[in-house]
Amino acid sequence: MTLAHHQAIVIGAGVAGLSTALYLQRGGMDTAVIDPLPPAGGSSFGNAGLLSPDTAVPIALPGMLRKVPGWLTDPLGPLSVRPSYFPRAFPWLMEWIKAGRLDRVMTISDAMRALHKDSLQCWQELLGAELYRDLIRPAGQVQVWEGDADTANAAVEQKVRDRHGIKTEALTADDLRQMFPGISRDVTRGLLVPGNGFTVSPARSVRTLGELFLHEGGELINERALKLLPQADGGWMVMTNIANRFTPHVVIATGAWSRQLLDPLNVKVALETERGYHAMLFEPEVKPALPISNKTRAFGVTPMEDGLRVAGTVEIAGLDAPPNEGRATALVEHARRMFPRLSGAKVRTWMGFRPSTPDSLPILGPVVRHPGLHLAFGHGHFGMTGGPPSGRIVARMILGQTLPIDPKPYAATRFA
Ligand SMILES: Cc1cc2nc3c(=O)[nH]c(=O)nc-3n(C[C@H](O)[C@H](O)[C@H](O)COP(=O)(O)OP(=O)(O)OC[C@H]3O[C@@H](n4cnc5c(N)ncnc54)[C@H](O)[C@@H]3O)c2cc1C
Repeated sequence: MTLAHHQAIVIGAGVAGLSTALYLQRGGMDTAVIDPLPPAGGSSFGNAGLLSPDTAVPIALPGMLRKVPGWLTDPLGPLSVRPSYFPRAFPWLMEWIKAGRLDRVMTISDAMRALHKDSLQCWQELLGAELYRDLIRPAGQVQVWEGDADTANAAVEQKVRDRHGIKTEALTADDLRQMFPGISRDVTRGLLVPGNGFTVSPARSVRTLGELFLHEGGELINERALKLLPQADGGWMVMTNIANRFTPHVVIATGAWSRQLLDPLNVKVALETERGYHAMLFEPEVKPALPISNKTRAFGVTPMEDGLRVAGTVEIAGLDAPPNEGRATALVEHARRMFPRLSGAKVRTWMGFRPSTPDSLPILGPVVRHPGLHLAFGHGHFGMTGGPPSGRIVARMILGQTLPIDPKPYAATRFA
């Protein structure tokens, strides 16, 4: 049995945990990260890699209630809820629908913008100039539409961009064909968001954060945290599968699994997992230079160092149900419709657990009732974007430093 002390312990070695840990270690705190998996073994492994400082549109938008029957009846639709899981997800879904009211969308977008706008700057700060150049492409993202019809909330999305002065450039069908040779004629128009970017490898980016953390004196501990126990001296004991570890500051950054550590402490948060899928096409016949989000079909493709990643879809089915690999296969079909030359011959399918709150904002900062307990999870669709700036905020809170933005919109108490 190990009895060990650290000035701070971060639980979870995804993008949120490692960003927090690296900022803490650099702030002078002897920090350990606990995770049974090497980085990146969670959602941070297989996401679409979009880094989106200029994205401030939450996932819940007006008109969601009308869509509920479709979610329950189409298992391969862009958003599906497994009927057997519906009763468990119901309270979260209700909060999610409420978060989609227009006035809330605008307030939420303010907080998303405040957090996301420094994303690339934080990635650069964490990785350093050379590794940033190697891993990150601040080159823009493109959204495309098929046919003439707008997607339901196009006007709301434009309103959000106008509110924050986010610059975009409209693209015609001809522009798109020049930018992306081989794109289907079904794709009729697009929008370039030049302030956004992407990583050529989410897994390597997060693994690199882990390597830097180790190199700078942090400790990565391959254990599973089972329970957090407050100590009489004000600190915490992290009881793992093989050790007892002590610290004054513990950060829960266990993504979609975070409620498992919070429930025994009677700390309630609105966290659900929106499961997502990817199909990784190795040796693709077509590789666009920029990520393309197809807004009509609700999926995206991202050029990565090992191929073309097709990602998307939301499945509400909890943490335990087996994957529905048909959802990943459907993504390949979507990609082949957008780029008919793609064969999709060499493909890996993957499922990950987005850690999602109803309002698309993460949960960051201290738990008032439990001194020394801090939260850094709930980034949903935007963890690669929001993880590094969130790590900066949580680390600065623990280090007692000035915060770059007002942390109130991300407080756990908003669910009380
Ligand atoms: C298909 C898909 C596409 C996406 N695309 C994008 C995108 O383009 N851009 C973007 O910004 N975001 C995207 N996301 C979201 C992003 O991947 C997540 O928000 C982000 O990875 C969450 O990071 P995290 O560190 O909170 O959690 P994770 O990466 O899931 O890490 C949590 C870690 O906690 C560990 N853990 C769990 N329980 C314990 C325990 N008891 N003890 C110790 N360790 C534990 C796990 O092993 C895991 O390593 C996408 C997600 C999916 C699924």
